[in-house]
Amino acid sequence: MENSSFNLDKMEVELIDGKAIYKLQTNSGLIIMNDLIGKTFKIHSGKEINCCNCGKKTAKSYSGGYCYPCSLKLAECDMCILKPELCHFDKGTCRQPDWGLQHCMIPHYVYLANSSGLKVGITRTSQIPTRWIDQGAIQALPILKVGTRYMSGVFEKLLSTEINDKTDWRKMLKGDPDEIDLEAKRDELFELFGEDLDDLENRFGSDKVSILESELVVDIKYPVEVYPEKVASVSLDKAEVVGGRLQGIKGQYLIFDVGVINIRSHTGHKVHLEL
Ligand SMILES: [Zn+2]
Repeated sequence: MENSSFNLDKMEVELIDGKAIYKLQTNSGLIIMNDLIGKTFKIHSGKEINCCNCGKKTAKSYSGGYCYPCSLKLAECDMCILKPELCHFDKGTCRQPDWGLQHCMIPHYVYLANSSGLKVGITRTSQIPTRWIDQGAIQALPILKVGTRYMSGVFEKLLSTEINDKTDWRKMLKGDPDEIDLEAKRDELFELFGEDLDDLENRFGSDKVSILESELVVDIKYPVEVYPEKVASVSLDKAEVVGGRLQGIKGQYLIFDVGVINIRSHTGHKVHLEL
């Protein structure tokens, strides 16, 4: 069966009974991607990228799915989204203050996760557990709740002097990492950074910073039959068709027997599926 073409968007995710469920929005409705594990299918490139904001054709995708003008104009494409400690909302220079109010000037979590090993990260409270699944984390634990994205970025930067703030996606796709006692790690970090955390709490105001001492670890299982021994990445920038037997899904990656494809980095690519 061949679907009509549509613009790719990241897979929607849900955590049900500890399992990651993936759905892909297509022109003919939502496809539960977990049901395709063990099956063969292909993604055909429509050789066209449409900006996920304005819909215009763009030869290249910027900031993960935007045309060049939108990437310069939108707050979500600004450097402070990658580096939240650079948030400049308070200076009155946010590219889109309304967007900033809705997405950045709201409560965020700082969390520990185990994706390719221990890491620290931040997310809007509403993005839990989505953010963790998008990163392929098998365990996660919120450790701080703070008033804004900026504050979470400052805490993350502090903690990243001690632990990683990146996921090694190749390692993440080679298998599940060893389990980590995240609660013990949290307690260690609180011990180690006690004074710095107190200083930041005083700076931001104690009503804006909650140190979370007794949250529970969230465990996440991914629909993966077999992990690849070698991680070869495939993309529609290099090939017109990508696909094969689907062995698993983790993070935003489809793990085919012929290689892995990052669906998120194909946002806005026009495609059709051959199921
Ligand atoms: Zn655009």
